[in-house]
Amino acid sequence: MRLSKVVVIGASVAGMRAVETLRRERFEGEITLVSAEAHAPYDRPPLSKQVLTGEIAPDALRYREIEWFAEQRVDLQLGLEAKELDTRAKQIRVGERWMPYDGLVIATGARARELEFGQSLKGVYSLRTIDDAVAIKERILPGVRVVIIGAGFIGSEVASSAAAAGAQVTLVEIGATAMCRVVGMQLGSALGKLHEEFGVNLICNARVTGIGGYERAEFVRLEDGWELPADIVVVGIGVSPNTEWLVNSGLKIDDGLVCDETLNAGPETVFAAGDVVAWPNRWWGGMMRGEQWLVAAEQGMQAAKNLLAGRADARRFSTIPYFWTDQYGCRIQVAGRTDVGELVPLVGDEFQRPFVCVFKQEDQIKGIFAVNAPRAFAMLRGALQQHRSFDRVMESVGRDLSTVD
Ligand code: NAP
Repeated sequence: MRLSKVVVIGASVAGMRAVETLRRERFEGEITLVSAEAHAPYDRPPLSKQVLTGEIAPDALRYREIEWFAEQRVDLQLGLEAKELDTRAKQIRVGERWMPYDGLVIATGARARELEFGQSLKGVYSLRTIDDAVAIKERILPGVRVVIIGAGFIGSEVASSAAAAGAQVTLVEIGATAMCRVVGMQLGSALGKLHEEFGVNLICNARVTGIGGYERAEFVRLEDGWELPADIVVVGIGVSPNTEWLVNSGLKIDDGLVCDETLNAGPETVFAAGDVVAWPNRWWGGMMRGEQWLVAAEQGMQAAKNLLAGRADARRFSTIPYFWTDQYGCRIQVAGRTDVGELVPLVGDEFQRPFVCVFKQEDQIKGIFAVNAPRAFAMLRGALQQHRSFDRVMESVGRDLSTVD
């Protein structure tokens, strides 16, 4: 099908990569990029790291200068939310008007989950947008008592940034360790130790039951009645995919917008990318919702290519998940699965740095975890991508690993 007007909803990394790819693949028609945020599209990973520590100014996060959109004939619509999708009439209600399309990429991402209490008090923050990061940065000052709820990505990175700013940090996690869901108990315990080493008070297996204070947050209450004094509270308890605007669209929603292996959402010219997408990831062996920067970027490119190629020629999207996180000056990198097989240390042990381990199942490497070992990690990631057996990998990189980084 020949397309003349493509609309991309959502201007984070997935939406941006979709737009760039459309033009790179020589799509000459109209492109409209719609963003609920008022800011020009920007990169999120530094928000909880270098923006909070002041190493990167918020303006430096822009993906493209505003002139680029005009040069590429991209109609950038900022500060507008998609409210409804009518796939039969091929139109989207954006703000108060209906916008026609003949090709659509849905990249509406996810938003920070909120607690059922206390979030409206002053001094309580989530961290998802540039405005959130700027507001938190202004308040993490020496001596300020920061209580962070959730020791996942956001909580751990904010704890590191706040500790570097000289704040008194308490990190409260409902699970048994920091980052337990993503790296499991053993590695999570080591990451917990890292917090403690830098003076952060990590409290695990703790359920928060309230945030108290008069107008402004003054304490966080735990289930056992313990109250943690707080000048500010940061909530990092996960995300919810932004699918509410699609409920009457006829598209399938189930913890995200359900797509097929080609990222097609049902109708022939509707594709999706990024944190909003649940899709069968062949490498993973089941349905997955990415929540990772690189997955979103790759999906944005593939969704655009598949939209232009048409359903018959659309290619499957399968990926080996990868993420990195920076905490207390350590670069932590993870690829593949850390929830299967046996953990085999290759360099050091989990309480040392550098540290490298793989997750081995039968003779295959299924996952890699590394701290402060980017070259070793890159070698192993290459092997994982090439499906090389554990023994073959050890033969070829074993010696190099003894001199990592
Ligand atoms: P997250 O990584 O899912 O971590 C949330 C943590 O909070 C989990 O450990 C969770 O435990 C815990 N939790 C949930 N409810 C809680 C409660 N009531 N009290 C205390 N702890 C609670 O989510 P996030 O840290 O909010 O990050 C949000 C998103 O940003 C994620 O999609 C992430 O991928 C992305 N992000 C990525 C990076 C990176 O890649 N470096 C950096 C920042 C953000 P359970 O798992 O047991 O529920």
